[in-house]
Amino acid sequence: MKSERKTDLLGMELSRLEALFADMSLERFRARQVFHNVYGRLRTEFSSMTDLSKPLRNDLAKRFTIKLPHITRRTESCDGTIKYLLQLEDTETVESVYIPETHRTTLCLSTQVGCSFRCRFCLTASLGFKRNLTFGEIVGQVMSILSDHNGTLNSSSRLNVVFMGMGEPLLNYENVMEAIRVMAHPDGLAISPKRMTLSTAGVIPRLSDLGREKVRPHLAVSLSATTEAQRNALMPHNRKYSLESLLEACRQYPLSARERLTFEYVLLDGVNDSLDDARRLVKLLDGIRAKINLLALNEAAELPFRASPPERVHQFQEYLASKHVSVFVRKPRGLDILAACGQLKREVDPAGLENFRSRIDSVAQPA
Ligand code: SF4
Repeated sequence: MKSERKTDLLGMELSRLEALFADMSLERFRARQVFHNVYGRLRTEFSSMTDLSKPLRNDLAKRFTIKLPHITRRTESCDGTIKYLLQLEDTETVESVYIPETHRTTLCLSTQVGCSFRCRFCLTASLGFKRNLTFGEIVGQVMSILSDHNGTLNSSSRLNVVFMGMGEPLLNYENVMEAIRVMAHPDGLAISPKRMTLSTAGVIPRLSDLGREKVRPHLAVSLSATTEAQRNALMPHNRKYSLESLLEACRQYPLSARERLTFEYVLLDGVNDSLDDARRLVKLLDGIRAKINLLALNEAAELPFRASPPERVHQFQEYLASKHVSVFVRKPRGLDILAACGQLKREVDPAGLENFRSRIDSVAQPA
């Protein structure tokens, strides 16, 4: 006899769960109980939801499942960062990173398998785009990592979530937003949206959608260039979403009273790290409540760039600070395990890598 496929509840918003339970003629509060068991208590077996009656647990187990991504590899850095390779139901894999700090723990999540954008300084680009993650697979990364830590992180540590792993989150908008609402729900993981950061390379139409969301994360924009030509060469999607229109969208972006936009700027030796770049950057961000995170490139043999030397990073930072721009140099984490920005899915298949190499070889380094 053919067995019916069970519905996976992972990542479903409470309202969706309530509608599903209503169709089964179950009381509304049952959905809230299950939601709380899954996200508040990290229970993924109905048999362990002891606040539900046994017949209901059995009935739910027959119809539904709660499947976490499977941890297939766990690599720990000397700085405490842990990189997870997670396998999804269709055997595709994504990477997520656990970054402990003194007073907070940050989880860096992926939103797509691979990425369709081709930022020249990012190794994830070598994978190409495979597919979007579902909301369940996005929330599942948090659940799998928390479960690996027995559901508890350092008790004095606040949990932050950043969407800076594999993929462009705004190209998987609906799933990312549903995952954010589930993570933020007070009956579940209860992660404040203020502690979530979504980093985009700039999908302009989606910025206005994001600005209208009731539950929305902090926004970070990956800039890394100060002229159209430079950005076209470094981040080719700039031909579609130009620097000028991106900054205009940032000016229109609604910020709450003390909120600022974060701009990420990867410093590349001799490419975008001159004092002229710093001057242009100050001008470009004029009128935007902004802070800038400067990032050192994580060098790799496959990439045609080198990291800016520390003295140039310092000069760049000093110039911005002298113009009263709020600027930070972000410390790379997990370098020894290839868990730093732009290094996820470092071990790519040879064909993909060859393809990537031929594409970047054909790009002249921008002036
Ligand atoms: S930097 Fe982000 S948007 Fe650009 S290729 Fe890498 S994952 Fe995609």
